[in-house]
Amino acid sequence: AAGTEGPLQVQRVDATSATAERDRYALEQDLRGALHNNEFELRYQPQIDAASGRVIGAEALLRWHNPMRGMVSPGLFIPVLESAGLIEEVGLWVLNAACREARSWHRLGQGPLTVAVNVSAHQLDRPDIHTLIKRTLERHSLRAGLLEIELTESAAAADVGRAERLFETLHGLGIHIAIDDFGTGFSSLSALRVLAFDKIKIDRQFVTEVEHRRDSQAICQSIIALARGLGIRVLAEGVERQEEYLWLRRHGCSEFQGYYFSPPLGGTEFQSFVCNSAPLRDRLVLDARQVQ
Ligand code: C2E
Ligand code: MG
Ligand code: MG
Ligand code: MG
Repeated sequence: AAGTEGPLQVQRVDATSATAERDRYALEQDLRGALHNNEFELRYQPQIDAASGRVIGAEALLRWHNPMRGMVSPGLFIPVLESAGLIEEVGLWVLNAACREARSWHRLGQGPLTVAVNVSAHQLDRPDIHTLIKRTLERHSLRAGLLEIELTESAAAADVGRAERLFETLHGLGIHIAIDDFGTGFSSLSALRVLAFDKIKIDRQFVTEVEHRRDSQAICQSIIALARGLGIRVLAEGVERQEEYLWLRRHGCSEFQGYYFSPPLGGTEFQSFVCNSAPLRDRLVLDARQVQ
């Protein structure tokens, strides 16, 4: 029996990877039809400024609902869009839908609301990316200052020289750029020195249980100090509990996003959230007494 174990194992590994290969191919095929079949949708997760207690905008998050598969997680399908060369087209769809939605927030009369759009490294490869962004803003008459681009460290660091020029162009238009999932990549600090980010988003992994984790506390305090030193904003993402929020607020973080405030919402739901955010504002003002 011992003699057959080796070959059998190899066979099993091969079968597994062949299945994985087939699954991935099927996923890719389904994704190819998704845009045309209207299977994509955006959700908007509110972003809150604690000092004023106001909703200051939302992050647009892509959702894929396939009739056969149901809801598929972006963590699963975004990498496939990227490797299949589909992210450019889908990314453009996201940008367009997000800008259209953000323009419709004007009529809520609740002050400026920004929309944050996640952009993959592959989308930055396009030499005319800034033109596409500019045109999209113009198409929807959305002020550039209301658009924020979220890039991960690795996306920005893929070609720093190019990113630097792109940042200049985007800033020239008035667009803001946030560094997403900060601290999870490999080149955070050097990227921050070359690239003029407007905001740091602290990754959820440092936020979870921060109020009783010394390591997370040290990391969050450093990131907050870093943002302050650079003169840029800092937002904590994935805040799920009041304790996390209060700890971060006490330590100088001013902007928040997470289930504690709201999950990602459909467009209409987001608008009601904004219009009915007075109780939230009151709650945050009350919290302010606790942190002082
Ligand atoms: P991200 O940009 O870091 O987005 C934050 C993720 O955290 C979202 O996951 C959001 O739903 C989730 N989240 C927010 N608050 C909480 C919380 O309190 N607790 C927990 N556990 N999770 C929370 P989602 O929507 O599944 O997206 C995952 C990732 O997929 C995003 O991470 C982003 O990197 C990528 N992604 C989503 N939409 C797009 C898109 O339109 N384009 C590109 N290129 N990437 C996208
Ligand atoms: Mg993001
Ligand atoms: Mg993030
Ligand atoms: Mg993430």
